[in-house]
Amino acid sequence: MTKEAVHLTTDVLVVGAGAAGMYAAVSAARGGADVVLVDKSLIGRGGATIMAQMTVAAAVGHEAPDDWTRHYEDTIAAGRGLCDERLAAILCEEAVDRILELDEWKVGWARENGHMKQVTAPGHSVPRCVYVDFLNTGPSVARCLRGRVAQTDGIARISGVAIVDLVVRDGAVSGAVGFNLEDGAPVTIAANAVVLAGGGLTGIYRRNSASANMGGHAYALALRAGAELIDMEFVQFFPIGHLAPRLVGMDPIMWDPFRYKLGGRLLNGDFEEFIHNYGAEDSGKYTAPRDVTSFAIVRENEAGRGSPHGGAWLSFEHVPETELRAAFGPVIEKLLANGIDLTKQAIEVSPIAHYHMGGVRVDERMETNVAGLYAAGEAVGGANGANRLSGNALPEAFVFGERAGRFAAADVRGQTPAWAARDASAALATLAARSDGRTETSPDAYTHHAIAAELRALMWEKVGLIRTDDSLGTALSRIRELQSELEAAPAAGAAAYDMSLADWFDLRDSLQTAEAVTLAARSRRESRGAHWREDFQETDPALEENQTVALSADGMVTGWQPVGRR
Ligand SMILES: Cc1cc2nc3c(=O)[nH]c(=O)nc-3n(C[C@H](O)[C@H](O)[C@H](O)COP(=O)(O)OP(=O)(O)OC[C@H]3O[C@@H](n4cnc5c(N)ncnc54)[C@H](O)[C@@H]3O)c2cc1C
Repeated sequence: MTKEAVHLTTDVLVVGAGAAGMYAAVSAARGGADVVLVDKSLIGRGGATIMAQMTVAAAVGHEAPDDWTRHYEDTIAAGRGLCDERLAAILCEEAVDRILELDEWKVGWARENGHMKQVTAPGHSVPRCVYVDFLNTGPSVARCLRGRVAQTDGIARISGVAIVDLVVRDGAVSGAVGFNLEDGAPVTIAANAVVLAGGGLTGIYRRNSASANMGGHAYALALRAGAELIDMEFVQFFPIGHLAPRLVGMDPIMWDPFRYKLGGRLLNGDFEEFIHNYGAEDSGKYTAPRDVTSFAIVRENEAGRGSPHGGAWLSFEHVPETELRAAFGPVIEKLLANGIDLTKQAIEVSPIAHYHMGGVRVDERMETNVAGLYAAGEAVGGANGANRLSGNALPEAFVFGERAGRFAAADVRGQTPAWAARDASAALATLAARSDGRTETSPDAYTHHAIAAELRALMWEKVGLIRTDDSLGTALSRIRELQSELEAAPAAGAAAYDMSLADWFDLRDSLQTAEAVTLAARSRRESRGAHWREDFQETDPALEENQTVALSADGMVTGWQPVGRR
């Protein structure tokens, strides 16, 4: 039986409590708005933020002379002609303020002789990335922002509620519908403005660096509310994800910071350096951009020069143990506990889905084409174009989060939400249809698992690093069949903490997001940045345009628009 809905009213609803959502909540509250901050996980503990290890790019100029315009130039160069220049400029300029503000809030940026330490990450022209030792950036940022949220008046924190749909009235957002993961009870929230900060999509790929709730939820919520997405074809594959030997309890992308600090030699199966054969420089310094390195590893494998498990070798054997320990302290012990002695062995690495450049289309105020609907963080597309510089994602979350909260508060403070219960009835009916008449024995958990596993395999094999019209066409048809299978999947499990209900809504989002990525990838008939078409290997100057995806009455549609210039 459907449980009674809980109803809340607020000025600003923030969906997702990673770095972007927490910053948005603090910023909206300091702008005088009442805020409700909702997350499916515990506040500040789901999503990507808490997983991040090291680099946060900002031209604070502590390590070497720097200026935000240089950071901007590097960002634009990496973006291969597709960065929205206005968003990229905001990101680079305001990153400095946000990093200094977090410093005041005692996040704990690593320091030396009183100044913040900064390292050079790939694609950056100077040492620009601050971090927290040892591989502790994400947890420290999450802890710091959780503290700020808790200390700021006017923010109600709600963990364990999944938002399943936004509510729109006359082209403007008026709130959201969700449910309590613990008991399945519906939750409706009336709001004058909503900030979507639900993170990225890499969980829809078989090999990924994702943690919980990274299945493309923000994109699907935005689409169903009538917002446009942009650049959905550009999924970033992190080149040196851990492949072998088995590594338990450690992050698969931890080799990135190792390379910033210590260099490290990337070698093919014949133990030869190879990045220089693909138009980039590397030779121990790790300055080759991520897209080039990922493709180079795939190509070496195609040519029969891969490492035994299908990747490349990464070796720190030439680095003295004292240097390893000075740079990574307790991490070296953890590796030894995993049976990995870096002084004696190379490890195997390969590309994994890691970040999404595309996302919700916003203006400089972070507002979408739906009035009152804002987006922030990895949920936003445009700033990084066709390829993101490492270290640009966390500043994007801080900067866009701060802006989204600030503008949302300024726009809506003190107004009464235009909420009408009937506007939420379709979303509530879908929820009821999935919650009612359930039995403990129905097999939907298995169906959900099978659909999720197939989707991840499909995305990895057909919409991964190397794409063709054929592979994308096959994927698109199968994704649409899976959507019908999910629609018909039987309901089950009336128990408390009913994950099968959550799985159904997660999968609905993931399939819709996967459809958007695949559709956009198929219609971009060129290779550029992270999007490689085997059947269109050249970059086509005529396609130096952003591609949009939207939902129409006839289904998902794509379009083109000029790149935003300053
Ligand atoms: C392993 C790893 C390492 C990384 N390292 C770095 C790095 O060193 N430097 C860097 O710049 N970037 C790094 N990144 C990328 C960066 O961490 C992310 O881009 C950034 O943290 C995104 O922040 P966010 O707030 O937008 O999203 P997230 O931190 O992912 O937060 C999104 C939140 O939304 C919630 N949510 C989603 N859907 C719903 C819903 N329907 N209802 C309610 N809640 C919902 C989730 O539970 C989650 O808590 C890394 C990413 C990963 C995965």
